[in-house]
Amino acid sequence: QSFEELSLDPRLLRALIKKGIEKPTPIQRVAIPLILEGKDVVARAKTGSGKTFAYLLPLLQKLFSDTGSNNRLGPSALVLVPTRELCHQVYSEVNSIIELCRAQLKVAQLTSTMSTIEMKQALSGPADILVSTPACVHTCLKAGALQPKAIQESLSMLVLDEADLLLSYGYEDDLRSLTAHVPRRCQCLLMSATSSADVEKLKKLILHNPYVLTL
Ligand code: AMP
Repeated sequence: QSFEELSLDPRLLRALIKKGIEKPTPIQRVAIPLILEGKDVVARAKTGSGKTFAYLLPLLQKLFSDTGSNNRLGPSALVLVPTRELCHQVYSEVNSIIELCRAQLKVAQLTSTMSTIEMKQALSGPADILVSTPACVHTCLKAGALQPKAIQESLSMLVLDEADLLLSYGYEDDLRSLTAHVPRRCQCLLMSATSSADVEKLKKLILHNPYVLTL
């Protein structure tokens, strides 16, 4: 199966060609159509499986066709990651695809080295896609740099990347305080290398009747 057969936007298909990426990986083949349909998805996916594109490609496609975003107060999509390194990686990957697509989407990242003022600046605009650790989002919420109302009104997609690590690194309380503001209509995706009791708990807390993919 090809990326064309997954009903991806021609701009994304061209970006993939420019990146030298030819065929979808197994996780991409199954996850992309489900995410495009708007389903909540839990995927057992390790680093190296192509998990990042499995969620980024449909996420971008949805934002390309998101027309009602002019008066947004906050981000449309939030990608939560366990480490600063993964935050940088996802941030630069998504920026590189956006550039190749010549799309007008703004991406922001929050890292623990930033001051509250820098965080506020990063969020201004507002950003369409926010990549962050749960702790930095929590800091922004506490400092008033990000309003709960902005998340409630704007967020249409939430991704928990490396969810097993999000929990083992002690982000559970930050996640709980944040997910209290996630609107019911928000599509949620959970990527995890392992499926533990903790991941199950997180799944129950955030996702609604998800498709569970174990590849
Ligand atoms: P990930 O599993 O998301 O950490 O991706 C691992 C690496 O695989 C990244 O460097 C991607 O650029 C690359 N990659 C993702 N999808 C594909 C694909 N369909 N074909 C070849 N390489 C890919």
